[in-house]
Amino acid sequence: MPSGKDVVSGRRNGNSGTTKKNAFCSFCRKSYRDVGPLVEGPGDVYICGECIELCQSILDQEQKRRGPSNNKLFSEIPSPREIVEHLDQYVIGQTGAKRVLAVAVHNHYKRLSSDWSGSEVEIEKSNILMVGPTGSGKTLLARTLAKMLNVPFAIGDATTLTEAGYVGEDVENLLLKLLHAADFDVEAAQRGILYIDEIDKIGKTSHNVSITRDVSGEGVQQALLKMLEGTVANVPPQGGRKHPEQQYIQMDTSNILFICGGTFVGVEDIIRKRLGKKTLGFGQASSTRDDSTSAELLPQVTSDDILHFGMIPEFVGRLPVVSALTPLDEQGLVNVLTEPRNSLVKQYQALFGENCELRFTESALKNIARRAKDKGVGARGLRGIIEAVMLDIMFDLPEQAEGTVFTIDQDAVEDKLTHFKVGNPEKKSA
Ligand code: ADP
Repeated sequence: MPSGKDVVSGRRNGNSGTTKKNAFCSFCRKSYRDVGPLVEGPGDVYICGECIELCQSILDQEQKRRGPSNNKLFSEIPSPREIVEHLDQYVIGQTGAKRVLAVAVHNHYKRLSSDWSGSEVEIEKSNILMVGPTGSGKTLLARTLAKMLNVPFAIGDATTLTEAGYVGEDVENLLLKLLHAADFDVEAAQRGILYIDEIDKIGKTSHNVSITRDVSGEGVQQALLKMLEGTVANVPPQGGRKHPEQQYIQMDTSNILFICGGTFVGVEDIIRKRLGKKTLGFGQASSTRDDSTSAELLPQVTSDDILHFGMIPEFVGRLPVVSALTPLDEQGLVNVLTEPRNSLVKQYQALFGENCELRFTESALKNIARRAKDKGVGARGLRGIIEAVMLDIMFDLPEQAEGTVFTIDQDAVEDKLTHFKVGNPEKKSA
């Protein structure tokens, strides 16, 4: 038999113990006998579990329709300093690039959030170009920014794009990715961030010219140009090639922040040449030596260098903010392993939980970093190496006695990567 407990008071100081035998849900009119416990509101109002669920789903749908980020985005735009402080928690080094990005992103969302209609000054959009080697943090920076600002984020690859008439993807498919990320909330997608990787591969002088694309790559640059400038694009909801009978979703790209990234292999030589010429005219010793490193040259990259690299002028003009990332040195890679909030070492230590403990010696970390550096793919190489080192230990972990401490030292790293031998576990001392 149901008791007085079948009615739960919804009031903070309500008398939840009252017996209300004839209570029924004020929304669906069913009695507690049919629908189970009821929540009581003020003035003999009740609601059943089914109606609570229904209300929740209506609220969820409404929230989705409005876009998850509406209020948050426009009520408070973080300052460039706050943006850099946030990026510092996840991205190692790249101080110059972080500052450039922070200012550009702050201004971009400031432009969106204010009502400029009455103003004579029209703030133009500033898309961003990131130049830097593989695994230096270009994608990570873009992703971390989007997460912080709580805006939809998608990654596209310029090498898959073709101009109409060639085999491959239309540029509109990039927008579809952003729509997907926004759960098809067009309004939210229209102020999202789209990261386009490998943008250097569509340059005229690219050595990676694909046979599925026009030889110069200019066609794709032209197609992308419209999107970067701001246009109303017809996005095919199913992806693939557009065809006349299809229904399109219209997307205005004028408020989407485009961040393009590329390694621009060889741009250092263009920078070196330019800097060499400049100093020669004054009869002084050139500040750039033939052996200047990428880390010294890349921060000095300008739009002109990108132009010389083979991007068309209109395209470069649409990416007015250029920021350079430098290769991570060995210590940088060690820091990537240990310092970010979700660093690989912290992730593994979390997997060890309360019962066992995982420690890495400095020399082991250096060894892993050195191996990654030798691979030439920056921080991208770290995960594969550490996974190989940890494989046997992770396999045995569930059977280990409580309090076991695993110390990964240089020998353990060498052993694992050469003969996959298990290291020596010891007892936890404290
Ligand atoms: P790319 O410059 O090629 O876009 P990514 O940003 O994709 O490089 O980096 C690949 C992975 O390497 C990231 O997911 C991250 O784990 C790590 N990583 C790269 N650069 C950094 C960095 N500067 N700080 C922290 N982690 C980094």
